[in-house]
Amino acid sequence: MSAAGEEMACQTCLAPLNTLGMPPTYVHPAHLDTDGHHPVPVPVSQLHTIRRSCDFCGDPYPIWTLRGGDVTAIAISAGSSLVQDFGHTWAACAACHTHLDDGRHDLVIDRAVRTLGLGDHPQVRERITELHRAFLDSRSPGRTLITTTSWPATTLTPGELPKIRDRLAHFYRGEDHLPATLGITQARDEIAAGLDRSHLYWIDTDFTDLAEHAASQLPDIPIGRDLPPATDGMIIWSRPVTHQNITAASWTDTGDGRQLILYRTIGAGLDGKALQRLREHVGWLAPTDAAHLPEQHPITGGHPAAALVATWLLIAQKAADIGPARIDKTIVKTYARTNRRPPEVRIVRVRGRRPTPTHDGRTTPGGEGGTQDSRFWVSGHWRNQPHGPRRALRRPVYINPFLRGPDDAPIRLSTTVRMLSSRQPTSENRG
Ligand SMILES: [Zn+2]
Ligand SMILES: [Zn+2]
Repeated sequence: MSAAGEEMACQTCLAPLNTLGMPPTYVHPAHLDTDGHHPVPVPVSQLHTIRRSCDFCGDPYPIWTLRGGDVTAIAISAGSSLVQDFGHTWAACAACHTHLDDGRHDLVIDRAVRTLGLGDHPQVRERITELHRAFLDSRSPGRTLITTTSWPATTLTPGELPKIRDRLAHFYRGEDHLPATLGITQARDEIAAGLDRSHLYWIDTDFTDLAEHAASQLPDIPIGRDLPPATDGMIIWSRPVTHQNITAASWTDTGDGRQLILYRTIGAGLDGKALQRLREHVGWLAPTDAAHLPEQHPITGGHPAAALVATWLLIAQKAADIGPARIDKTIVKTYARTNRRPPEVRIVRVRGRRPTPTHDGRTTPGGEGGTQDSRFWVSGHWRNQPHGPRRALRRPVYINPFLRGPDDAPIRLSTTVRMLSSRQPTSENRG
């Protein structure tokens, strides 16, 4: 971070910006291919996604911020100077971090040399080593999770949910830091305890589509105690939702309201030791946004948690069939060893739709591939409807959505009709 103030990134391409000359102007990093747009500097704290790269090797998915010596590199060419202000906080990818932990700085240099594409000359290695050493020789202990990296999606299955939840709770209880901008530093133990108590929900593909569509039109709604399907809970959508690419959310009852946290998946594309360490130390999810909502506090349609609230509402309006998921045997055994009750995961699917049986007889909500991806929910709108004791309360209900498929695929109107009608006595609940 530069001494002049908060680090800036470009609002257009989300790349952290360098400074040029004195007084400084903000420029794109020289190595970055842009479409020629002018940088639009905004403080990084205003962005949920930042296109940062590993300051050691250039990898596009950094995971840890490390603190060390203050490093400024100055490149001079053709009379102008480019100040690359690495500062005293560096981003590290999982692979570099693993190598550094193992005392293998040489392997970090290998990665950097490969990225630069300058060829493996002793002089190149020497310069990079000097630069890294200036930082590493003054490194302080501790590390902070980078929560703004937009990782490719990791597919999470219902059976893994207890393990994912437990690892996340473990991370909250651990020593690794989270960015202060999330505002949950003081609440970590409370969030971990909430996760231990939480009901777990896995949202199938169709219900995820429906929830995302409904979220885009969500009216302002007060969030009360009776809205979520459980006091404390965690849900995983079968794919990332909204432009923020959120895959999971948790909520914790805090007595005076709820702490909501939204998560992205991390670690896609890693393998070997780097992946193993990441799963062990962090898990599958990184918190990207958090909000504490006092009881009956209203949220608006544009709120980052709109997809979570839309999912709650759709469950509350009984648009969902909720059934148990099969849990991996190893997870059940792990729970038994530590005297915990076997975990329960509830699968949420659109009411009236049959789970697709797979070859081994298990049910896979949403089915496998094929036309599934190309159908989506259209139309639909929210309307305030009475509910609660003597129907004195009002709550938005999502009316009239329907599922559209490709021209050659049948439009399954029956799905919509059944969802909106009262439950029909069919043989749908076999699973
Ligand atoms: Zn830009
Ligand atoms: Zn790296």
